[in-house]
Amino acid sequence: MLATGNPHKVDELMAIFREIDLDVRLLSLGDAPDAAALREPRETGATFGENSQIKAVSYAAQTGMLCLADDSGLEIDALDGRPGVISSHYFCDGDESRAAGLGRAERDERNNERVLRELSGVPDAQRAARFVCVMTLANPGASGGPAQVLARSRGTMEGRIGLPPRVPAGENGFGYDPLFLVAPAFEHAAAELSPSEKHAISHRGVAARRMGTQIKALFGW
Ligand code: IMP
Repeated sequence: MLATGNPHKVDELMAIFREIDLDVRLLSLGDAPDAAALREPRETGATFGENSQIKAVSYAAQTGMLCLADDSGLEIDALDGRPGVISSHYFCDGDESRAAGLGRAERDERNNERVLRELSGVPDAQRAARFVCVMTLANPGASGGPAQVLARSRGTMEGRIGLPPRVPAGENGFGYDPLFLVAPAFEHAAAELSPSEKHAISHRGVAARRMGTQIKALFGW
């Protein structure tokens, strides 16, 4: 079970696992038995690790299946690590009710506008940033006991927020990709990379390969 309703994430993760000879079938939440009855836990954690654990443990307990969850976002040094855990709703300070009715593209655009506004006047050398992804694997727990964390992995992708008019740039990816110039060359925005180029180096790709390696060791696969 993968704690997402997004079938693309499921396909992407299974493809990464296959690259390291881990052939597992992941289900998205929508394909879980009793999918309609699943309750979405509130992501109240202060860190990506806490939020991925909240999701993995909650869905493992609810479905009775092994559950893998991820949480990711952008940290900008000059903004003391913001947007961090509220990356998806930064424009409204993480208040999801204020984003109701807006599509993903519109939220991304408003988030990006806020980041550029907050960094206006900040020179290149102080625009360091990184994408972070933390994955947690949870076990539903034997005979009705509490769900337990079996493994955790973390991946980062370093870069910097480009200076306009160099950014926004690129048509691929999502979220902050058009603003993010990838280290060490800072030549390409993440949105200018093809999906396979991005996954080879991305926070999510790194965290997924590390998780896949742990799963193989845990289960002897
Ligand atoms: P989630 O963990 O998939 O919900 O991602 C949280 C938010 O972090 C997204 O809505 C984006 O704003 C941002 N984010 C996470 N990963 C990426 C990425 O690879 N590119 C751009 N933005 C990202």
